[in-house]
Amino acid sequence: MTTETRDIVIVGGGTAGCFAAATAAQNGLDVTLLERKSEDEGGHIACGDAIKGKSTFPDVIDRDYLREESFTNENIQRAMFMNPDGENYDIPFESGSGAVVDRKRYGEVLLEEADRVGAEIEYDTVVKDVVQNGRVTGVEAVRRGDPVQYDADVVIDAAGALSLLQDKVDFDGTTYDTNVNYQQFCSAYREVIEVPEPVEYDDAIVFKPTDELGYLWYFPRTGTEINAGLGFQMNKPSMELVSVLKDDLEERPEFEGAEVKDKLGAALPTRRPYDSAVAPGFMSVGDAAGHVNPTTGGGIPGAAKAGHWAAEVATEAISDGTLGESALWEYNHRVQTDFGKKFAAMDLYNIFGGAHDVDELTEVVTALPGEMIIDLMGKKGSVSLSLPEKVKAAVVTALETRGHWSTLREAYQVNRLAAELKKIYDDYPTTPDQFESWKTSRDDIMDRVYDVTGAEPKY
Ligand SMILES: Cc1cc2nc3c(=O)[nH]c(=O)nc-3n(C[C@H](O)[C@H](O)[C@H](O)COP(=O)(O)OP(=O)(O)OC[C@H]3O[C@@H](n4cnc5c(N)ncnc54)[C@H](O)[C@@H]3O)c2cc1C
Repeated sequence: MTTETRDIVIVGGGTAGCFAAATAAQNGLDVTLLERKSEDEGGHIACGDAIKGKSTFPDVIDRDYLREESFTNENIQRAMFMNPDGENYDIPFESGSGAVVDRKRYGEVLLEEADRVGAEIEYDTVVKDVVQNGRVTGVEAVRRGDPVQYDADVVIDAAGALSLLQDKVDFDGTTYDTNVNYQQFCSAYREVIEVPEPVEYDDAIVFKPTDELGYLWYFPRTGTEINAGLGFQMNKPSMELVSVLKDDLEERPEFEGAEVKDKLGAALPTRRPYDSAVAPGFMSVGDAAGHVNPTTGGGIPGAAKAGHWAAEVATEAISDGTLGESALWEYNHRVQTDFGKKFAAMDLYNIFGGAHDVDELTEVVTALPGEMIIDLMGKKGSVSLSLPEKVKAAVVTALETRGHWSTLREAYQVNRLAAELKKIYDDYPTTPDQFESWKTSRDDIMDRVYDVTGAEPKY
């Protein structure tokens, strides 16, 4: 077997891996990114293609080039929730518009950019195992049919949801989060379809609830090219994704005469970020570390940031010549005190939702005035309620939600626990020494969430 040596080896050429590779290369490190797909297929990844805006991306690639090449619809102004039992709701975006991208081109540009700034990219290279000796020191792969070993100071695992590497590393005696199982993931499927006439909602990302606490989406890449997909949580009975999507598309007049251009499915995490995503010589980023909003499935911004931060911290550790958990810990701290706390808080709503019937949740939502829902979701509505309107809304709500008061009370309690949880994540320890006591405080809140909702413990 050939053996090659690098400063950093990154496994996986998605968003997280490309940002990690570009950052490491910009920092002057010798870095190779290993991607199992061919160069032609690189960047072809199952996704809803919706992104919050280019500002979320770290400045290590040419972000204008990325935007020009792949942001096909930059005019997303609102999220529209289709309510099967009543009024639809619009949640306007507060800060600037979002975008829907051509995901294949987006992925290709990230790989191109990582290469341009100095990372080596090896396509057709499937990582099969890790090399370890008290710490991870490299990986074993098959590169275009031939076995190859890469030795490295740090291995960054950017291999996506349910990453194979995590089955191979011996995490005994490390802080790395091994409390992970498939039930904390969602199975999702999407099609890209071309319709003859532009849809009316080309300025919106559209969501619609489905059974099993999933949702269907229509995200317009352009007025006539729509990314349509759906998913279900794997702690619920499985759903026939392809046929449920087909039935829905057939029912909707705007999809008459539609042509399917691409189909793809994948798993994605719908859990809190890993408590610790580092072990000696090893770091996980993006989907491989649960860096996805567990209620919306949005994972691109988290993957980009995590990849960037991991490579920054690894650069420092390599230059100091210390590759243990303490040297890599700063990466955990950055994730958990930034988007990590938000995703951990969103996970509580996911747990709450999972303990209720979708029909019941839809009835509650239908009974609440639209402005109140927007308020509950923490966004400003397009019209603010005057005092008489507020009184009227309160009376209507009280009458219409009769029978659901305990659910509303639970939602209110979960909301308060989510705020408490965020504070705990603000205090995420700066060194591994305090990690166990931090987890105890966090788990106390989780116990209260399970008490309030009656949900089965998720972790
Ligand atoms: C159907 C669906 C819809 C989604 N919609 C959205 C959305 O609208 N907006 C949003 O922000 N997020 C969305 N997400 C989530 C988002 O796609 C992910 O969070 C994001 O792509 C994570 O990036 P990543 O780099 O961590 O992993 P990935 O993009 O999964 O990349 C992992 C890479 O690793 C490679 N790889 C895996 N194993 C190996 C191996 N052994 N050897 C070599 N290479 C390997 C894979 O080929 C792949 O290229 C969606 C996900 C799904 C499944």
